[in-house]
Amino acid sequence: METQTSNTPFYEPSGDECELFERAWKNRLPLLIKGPTGCGKTRFVSHMAARLGLPLHTVACHDDLTAADLVGRHLIGDGETIWNDGPLTRAVREGGICYLDEVVEARKDTTVVLHPLADDRRMLPIDRTGELLQAPPSFMLVVSYNPGYQNFLKGMKPSTRQRFVSLTFDFPTAAQEEAVLVGETGIDSMTAKRLVSIAGAFRALRDHDLEEVASTRLLVYAATLIKDGYDPVRACRAALVETLTDDTETAVALSEVVSATF
Ligand code: ADP
Repeated sequence: METQTSNTPFYEPSGDECELFERAWKNRLPLLIKGPTGCGKTRFVSHMAARLGLPLHTVACHDDLTAADLVGRHLIGDGETIWNDGPLTRAVREGGICYLDEVVEARKDTTVVLHPLADDRRMLPIDRTGELLQAPPSFMLVVSYNPGYQNFLKGMKPSTRQRFVSLTFDFPTAAQEEAVLVGETGIDSMTAKRLVSIAGAFRALRDHDLEEVASTRLLVYAATLIKDGYDPVRACRAALVETLTDDTETAVALSEVVSATF
């Protein structure tokens, strides 16, 4: 089952991740994707959902997220109480994909609802309605997190983690990242090359002057501004330099790299 249409979001693969995703889905295995922010995890999941013709429900996790936000709740309207499915329940009923982005941000008591779904039971008990849903074969649970943001309190519980097949993402190679910029924004390959070389220089500063590195997402922003006709040096300053640092000296140093490149 594979439907590649013009509506399939553009995704430049970096290895065999598409094959692994499809095999995991076919074999009803849940998938955990690890990797830095802005390296293409969310795009990959939406690309695969479209390719496999599956509805996708994405949840950006945060520390106030409750189990009810995932599963659903009763809402009062017109004097009646109506049950409202949450995104997880909807994905289970439809046999689609539920993607929980930054899952380690969610409280542990929230992620516990995933357990019976993530192992071979593939069940979702809904306490409030007394339902016990059996996930159809096409349902898939996908979660992601950024190991770099993790602190020791927020690590993923081993009992949760050990229910997933895992895939590690990192920033793409220079050639792949150029292909992403060209495919995503339509800029010429020379400009893409220059942007990727700037990102390489910035990434070498990781842990020294910069806490965060330039993500592919930020390069896409810079390329979008340039494609729109904006001056490349100013585009890089706005999309990369100023976004990555508040420190004036560091900003000057980064801007020099940009000016030397364009
Ligand atoms: P993450 O979920 O890892 O934080 P995203 O999937 O949102 O990151 O990626 C950010 C942006 O970077 C995307 O919107 C897309 O423009 C671009 N991007 C990153 N990697 C790829 C890729 N391999 N193919 C296509 N676009 C990509």
